[in-house]
Amino acid sequence: MSTSKQWVYGFGGGESAGDASMKALLGGKGANLAEMAKLGLPVPPGFTLTTEVCTEFYKNNRAYPGELSGQVDAALAALEAKTGKKFGDVANPLLVSVRSGARASMPGMMDTVLNLGLNDQTVEGLAQLSGDKRFAYDSYRRFIQMYSNVVLELEHHMFEEILGSHKDTNDYRTDTELTAEDWIQVVAEYKRAVEKKLGKPFPSDPKEQLWGAIGAVFSSWMNDRAIFYRKHNNIPESWGTAVNVQAMVFGNMGETSATGVAFTRDPSTGEKRFYGEYLINAQGEDVVAGIRTPKPLTKASREAMGEGGLSLEEAMPVVFAELTAHYQKLEAHYRDMQDLEFTVERDRLYMLQTRNGKRTAKAALKIAVDMAREGLITEKEAVQRVDPSALDQLLHPTISPKYHRDLICRGLPASPGAAVGAVVFDPDEAANLATAGKAVILVREETSPEDIHGMHAAKAIVTSRGGMTSHAAVVARGMGRPCVSGAGELRIDMKAGAFKVGGRVVKLGETITVDGSSGEVLFGAADMVQPELTGDFATLMEWADKARRMKVRANAETPEDAATAVKFGAEGIGLCRTEHMFFDAERIAAVREMILAETEKGRVAALDKLFPHQRQDFVDLFEIMGPRPVTIRFLDPPLHEFLPHTEEDCEAVAKATGVDAKALLARARELHEVNPMLGFRGCRLAIVYPEIYDMQARAVFEAACDVAEAKGAAPVPEIMIPFVLAKRELDFLKGRVDAIAAEVFAKRGRKIEYLVGTMIELPRAALLAGEIAQTAEFFSFGTNDLTQTTMGLSRDDSGKFLGTFVERGVLPQDPFVSIDAQGVGELVGLACERGRAARQGLKLGVCGEHGGDPSSVAFFERAGLDYVSCSPYRVPIARLAAAQAALAKG
Ligand code: ADP
Ligand code: MG
Ligand code: MG
Repeated sequence: MSTSKQWVYGFGGGESAGDASMKALLGGKGANLAEMAKLGLPVPPGFTLTTEVCTEFYKNNRAYPGELSGQVDAALAALEAKTGKKFGDVANPLLVSVRSGARASMPGMMDTVLNLGLNDQTVEGLAQLSGDKRFAYDSYRRFIQMYSNVVLELEHHMFEEILGSHKDTNDYRTDTELTAEDWIQVVAEYKRAVEKKLGKPFPSDPKEQLWGAIGAVFSSWMNDRAIFYRKHNNIPESWGTAVNVQAMVFGNMGETSATGVAFTRDPSTGEKRFYGEYLINAQGEDVVAGIRTPKPLTKASREAMGEGGLSLEEAMPVVFAELTAHYQKLEAHYRDMQDLEFTVERDRLYMLQTRNGKRTAKAALKIAVDMAREGLITEKEAVQRVDPSALDQLLHPTISPKYHRDLICRGLPASPGAAVGAVVFDPDEAANLATAGKAVILVREETSPEDIHGMHAAKAIVTSRGGMTSHAAVVARGMGRPCVSGAGELRIDMKAGAFKVGGRVVKLGETITVDGSSGEVLFGAADMVQPELTGDFATLMEWADKARRMKVRANAETPEDAATAVKFGAEGIGLCRTEHMFFDAERIAAVREMILAETEKGRVAALDKLFPHQRQDFVDLFEIMGPRPVTIRFLDPPLHEFLPHTEEDCEAVAKATGVDAKALLARARELHEVNPMLGFRGCRLAIVYPEIYDMQARAVFEAACDVAEAKGAAPVPEIMIPFVLAKRELDFLKGRVDAIAAEVFAKRGRKIEYLVGTMIELPRAALLAGEIAQTAEFFSFGTNDLTQTTMGLSRDDSGKFLGTFVERGVLPQDPFVSIDAQGVGELVGLACERGRAARQGLKLGVCGEHGGDPSSVAFFERAGLDYVSCSPYRVPIARLAAAQAALAKG
């Protein structure tokens, strides 16, 4: 004999079988209805069919568990006892709502059906009971319309047309003008229309109506909208939805009835003020449907909005006082901002829903900090309440919401924030104008590594080609520059010195605004709102810093980025990419000379020209970073990235620099690689041309001595050798670095503490970490390259299919955004373990985009890294994510 299982849970009327902890079983709505009833709040009684019914339904080819029907009958009988009404009874009919409710709030699920149980007989009973025929038929027509729409899947407009033409014939403008007689006629027409459409009459048996609605809710779990929403919000299909059947209360019983929605605090600003809207003599979705304009709940907000009419506070002061008491009780009980739904039936208040309210990033921050200050939650809980990714919205300047936007074109929102500047097309010109103090926006078809200096000089970047992971997008995010990529309608006409969008022409030097958060390019200079980094933000960050274990560093190479990083709380530089320093117009000539040189002597001569610049770069960084460690990665990219590629470009460069165009082109061809990411790059360059790293090492140590002398406090350089695959590479290069250090220190008469370490970005290096750690004094995981080389996925090319991979569930996410903990992470863990076994206290960090991704940060916390490093603008995100990860570990 099968033991019977509980598929149905009752709530309200003095007892509830469930509570708020049972969201998995009862869905969010059902669990909270049960909880509210338990708290003694006035909740119309009802019952919940569990999510397990849903799972069972799909397991058994859309059949219900055998015991369900009996349990629903019993629950219905209990509901009749609680309400003193009878389902389907002509004299005293019980009416119910049927409401879907998954574990997580899920738009896309079935809409609610209200007033279920009405038919031509019970509607008369309702009219008798309420003494209001108009109300009864208004409820009936609503029911037919909703049921037809969500259960019978008939289109809304069919009913709207009937109602519209009825209003036209009678010269009514609003629904409120319709009399009882009017609604009776409308109901009859509705029913005729349904019958015509379906070939059978609208169901009049309440039981049939009820099972129809229940079936529609469970079926809606698998509709396209719900499937789409689940996929995009990582909600497993296996969760299923619950169905709530609840006794109706009526907000449409005349002037003493109403319905409304409320937030216990302002969901857009977070301010502690009761906030919401209501409508007199209305039901359910009228408030959000926009047929009538709802009124504010409080007198203060009505006055602030300059609205006429009455707020709920003024219209129904007793109800309002009760509602105030309820919301305070609920907020204190749930210890979070609540989103409430309520209805007033003839001056009696009923609570129909509560849940933790959705809020903007700004509100999340303020509410968390305020609640901790009020003692409602702890500081640690406040830290856990704010989504780190949402901080991104708060860290960049944004366009004032009041500004009128003159849209030129739209592209992809590739890097957040907004900026204003003059249009330039040429990176060199961008750099020159920026040096002269002008704000510029770089507009290009697409960008390449040669454009870095221009991108850096620009306030924002716009490209007409490329996606979210194009060069422009990735570099702009790293630099914290707003970027709109792939603005496909935009055509650059270099000859005319302008770009065109459709018929519109924007000339070189004209001012535009780029909104990298929305992907919009606007004409003119928008009014901007600067990010607020003090106040609540600073407070929450302080609490986060107390909770976290890992340090947070920034990837930065320019003084400007380093200063931003410090402002955002970076505790060091985790990655200074020295190649970015070589693209500057003044230096690139010397770099090219070095690449063209046939002999070591020639290369050294060219490197000598670079040396003073490089030394100054480090002086600048050390001065800004003070006692914080600065990790300097020696030259990493393949040399051909520094050379022009086309014949035309070679000639232009030759003319400008006096080198031979033919030689340049020949060398560019010689250095050309089929697979540059696995080519002649990283420390391989210095194994072949050691003088390159020698120059860089000398620049580091001389700069460190300079700053130590000037400031009386020594900087903390950490030299990082990229793309290592064997201990021998590191032995060779570290030997030279140490020798140069000794030489400089002897000459300068002082010693600076420094470390020499390596990037772990090849699987072989991870596997041989134990051996490598005998030489390396620290590891920094270069997870971009490690992901490429472990997964055999090129970051530059995989964009074309990775989306489909994720869509089809082959990969859970883009491994370049969130680290592949299973595979790449395994190598990271292994390298940590082997490295630390070989060298006690080996410093471990990560640089690359993953360092600023909250879920990756959580992984790095579990792996026990010492720090993460990310782009300056993501430092606060990483600080918060690291704190949450540490708290999650307990
Ligand atoms: P959603 O999940 O879309 O918010 P709900 O199930 O909360 O849908 O129903 C929407 C609205 O319908 C509620 O806000 C409430 O105004 C109304 N409603 C639902 N159930 C009842 C009921 N038993 N009595 C009165 N109104 C109800
Ligand atoms: Mg609701
Ligand atoms: Mg790398």
